[in-house]
Amino acid sequence: MSTTIALIGNQNSGKTTLFNALTGSNQHVGNFPGVTVEQKRGKVKKHHSIEVVDLPGIYSLSPYTMEEIVAIDFLLDDRPDIILNIVDATNIERNLYLTMQLIELQIPMIIALNMMDEVVNSGNSIDVKGLEARLGTKIVPISAYRGEGIEDLIESLTELSLHPLTKKVDLCHGEIHKAIHSIGHLIEDNVKKVHYPKKYCATKIIENDEKVMQKLELDDNQLHIIHHIIEDMEQKAGTDRDVALVEMRYNEIEKICEETVLKKQETTEQIRSEKIDQILTHRFLGIPIFICIMLLIFFITFNLLGEPLQALLEQFLAFVTAGIIRMLESQHVAQWLISLLRDGVFAGVSNVLSFLPVIVILFFFLSLLEDSGYMARVAFVMDKILRKIGLSGKSFVPMLIGFGCSVPAIMATRTLSSQRDRKMTIILTPFMSCSAKLPIYGMIISAFFAHKAAFAMITVYLIGIFVAVVSAVILKATVFQGDPIPFVMELPAYRIPTLKSVVIHMLEKAKDFIKKAFTIIFLASMAIWFLQSFNFRFEMVTDSSQSILAYLGAKISWIFQPLGFDDWRLSTSLIAGITAKESVVSTLSVLTNTSTSAALNTALKELLNPASAFAFLTFTVLYMPCIGAFAASKRELQSFKEAVLTALFQTGMAYIFAWIVYHICLIFI
Ligand code: GDP
Ligand code: MG
Repeated sequence: MSTTIALIGNQNSGKTTLFNALTGSNQHVGNFPGVTVEQKRGKVKKHHSIEVVDLPGIYSLSPYTMEEIVAIDFLLDDRPDIILNIVDATNIERNLYLTMQLIELQIPMIIALNMMDEVVNSGNSIDVKGLEARLGTKIVPISAYRGEGIEDLIESLTELSLHPLTKKVDLCHGEIHKAIHSIGHLIEDNVKKVHYPKKYCATKIIENDEKVMQKLELDDNQLHIIHHIIEDMEQKAGTDRDVALVEMRYNEIEKICEETVLKKQETTEQIRSEKIDQILTHRFLGIPIFICIMLLIFFITFNLLGEPLQALLEQFLAFVTAGIIRMLESQHVAQWLISLLRDGVFAGVSNVLSFLPVIVILFFFLSLLEDSGYMARVAFVMDKILRKIGLSGKSFVPMLIGFGCSVPAIMATRTLSSQRDRKMTIILTPFMSCSAKLPIYGMIISAFFAHKAAFAMITVYLIGIFVAVVSAVILKATVFQGDPIPFVMELPAYRIPTLKSVVIHMLEKAKDFIKKAFTIIFLASMAIWFLQSFNFRFEMVTDSSQSILAYLGAKISWIFQPLGFDDWRLSTSLIAGITAKESVVSTLSVLTNTSTSAALNTALKELLNPASAFAFLTFTVLYMPCIGAFAASKRELQSFKEAVLTALFQTGMAYIFAWIVYHICLIFI
């Protein structure tokens, strides 16, 4: 027989750290609220009959966000055998708010009092026995991070799993107490039918929770009586129903803490954090400081380390490819197969793999920022600005990552709690100019705008941001009406990131990326190679203008005529760019038969003029992201249809803005 333990606690209370300590696994720990969005399961070390489920962090049992819904549904419908409630001892009052509600669920429970190291270090103390008596729940003081108290905790868990029991403690009083009990009495039969805890249902009814009320199938008579009970209570207590409940819980917590918690001062970490925050979240300095930090990170990632490492890796891949090709040639392998491997698979996959160093380095820095607690501040500072266009502060982090690569950016939207905010962010993130588009900008700018390169480059980036803002406003007015979720993310204390956590994060990203290169990019490269090398009679062509790809490119080139460019090679390169944005450049150089960038410049000048070149550039900034990002958004939206609609929206905006840019340029250039 196996026991299921639900790990429940506030965000950032150390749930994942404890999960890892209990199970010996290596889940990503982040000093950023909301890192755990999906539930993870693992077996307790040396006690394989006990399974722990790591759930998203929640503050209460009122379902406001996706995370809360996941956690509550699990508790009510899957009924774990034991709740392991992790409480951050340095923030005990706020953490106990959830504990009070968990007690109502009448599920056997143990409290792990975490971060005791910080409490002890700052000279504070907690009367664990006293707290245990007041809450009627076993409490084990631990430090998940240092692995202290974990053995005790496992022992208490096994014991409770053998003798599951719940003590009845009454933690409510006053008028509201009476109301809870009368309602509880009234709904006794309904509750038994759905196997929900009675007291939980009674408080939920007072909170007017529609989901619970529907589930209980209350009849009109009951509803009528309930209405009366609540009205009566509100009148006698002199407050409304929600306030009455919250007050009751906080009063109780205050009393308990007065008796059991000795708090001489804030913990050293809290005092240090406040000092750091005076500078980093400063009203005027906050944003400039952040921009400087990001510039530095981008500079180190892309210029200082990324470029040379990328070049090195490219050389290495070219060396390996050449070796393999030579070997195949000496074995007299069919020419078409060699071409498939060399021009299709190797060219495509190694082109993409060469970005691995950049991705790994970027994520190294980003996990430093995240684990130290700084990212949470950034989101907080940006929230005010983003709220104006219908996004929340949390959308900011994915957008920022989007300047590097849309794939991890879209994955990063998991930290957003509401579906609405999340979908909007997934749609807008690709407008941030990703690094794979840089070769395209380089190509067009050196051919047409070399004399004002920096200005052109900045304009391109700004166009992306501008269109994202416009789209946000449009989406907010149409598909995504309503407001972003109130920003309840709390600011965690600054902590020194652990090397282990940062490395885990980096390896996870590298693994994802390499997997992508060998699946999607692998297949897409073969497809493009095929279309580029064969004609409709499936004969291999020497001149790619005779290929299927050229035919298809020509078929759609009229679409781009209003934007000022209608050559089949340009439209073909845009299609090829869907596999990976870099392919726009490589495809154009193949199709124009140019091997040097100078020759390509000359060829481009025949295909485009400055106005249409800028329209082409605008289109490439905005149109649907590469297939990797498309797959990521399909995965995150969990819907192929929505992913397609997203891509159509992005391409539509690209078309409209490229048209506008073309006509503006016709006037001014
Ligand atoms: P979750 O959001 O609840 O999953 O919390 P995490 O496990 O991601 O931890 C949040 C932060 O608290 C991380 O920076 C951890 O290193 C830190 N942390 C976790 N447990 C302890 C502890 O016992 N003591 C101290 N000082 N820090 C801890
Ligand atoms: Mg977590």
